[in-house]
Amino acid sequence: MKAETYPFVVRPLPYEYDALVPVQDAETLTFHHDRHYKTYVDNLNMALSDYPELQKLSLKELLTTLDHMQEPLRTAVRNNGGGVYNHELYFDSMKSPVGQDPSGQLAAAIDRDFGSYRQWKDQMKQAAVSKFGSGYAWLLTDKEGKLSIVQTSNQDVPDLKDFTPLFLVDVWEHAYYLQYQNRRADYVDGWLTLINWRKAEKRYEER
Ligand code: MN
Repeated sequence: MKAETYPFVVRPLPYEYDALVPVQDAETLTFHHDRHYKTYVDNLNMALSDYPELQKLSLKELLTTLDHMQEPLRTAVRNNGGGVYNHELYFDSMKSPVGQDPSGQLAAAIDRDFGSYRQWKDQMKQAAVSKFGSGYAWLLTDKEGKLSIVQTSNQDVPDLKDFTPLFLVDVWEHAYYLQYQNRRADYVDGWLTLINWRKAEKRYEER
């Protein structure tokens, strides 16, 4: 995803705080980015502060070597490193709602692996709405370009060695509660219109 290392910094949103109105209001996006995401960055840096050898690793390297870490470091990196990775991709997965659809190789892969864009959308929504508790629904590709939809819990990431995430939808309540309260399905319907397909296509082609 990137080669940045410790100390990790809060990446600015790639659009204005009100760019996603009315689908996501500025208050939601401000709290989500400036408070929730920032806290994961701060806590990850704190967790790594006493481990100079780990400070040389990228986020992806940290998240794919959790098995080599001891507790309580492992849990701290899993939760906070995952929180950083997931939020950076989430914010970078959206754009102003101007009605983009998938195109090119990715559009063809969606038709091949899900039957149609419509059927993909139904399955993606179902995965996001049915995720029990806090977590994410993802669209992933393997090295060969085969697509899959998966759910993860808390701030866990999928297998980043064998799969490349194209995007994810955050279904923690903090992602939608201020604007949608308990109406997660409405939030997900809105999110489906915000997907930055051009960036997803680029990730797909670079898998
Ligand atoms: Mn979040």
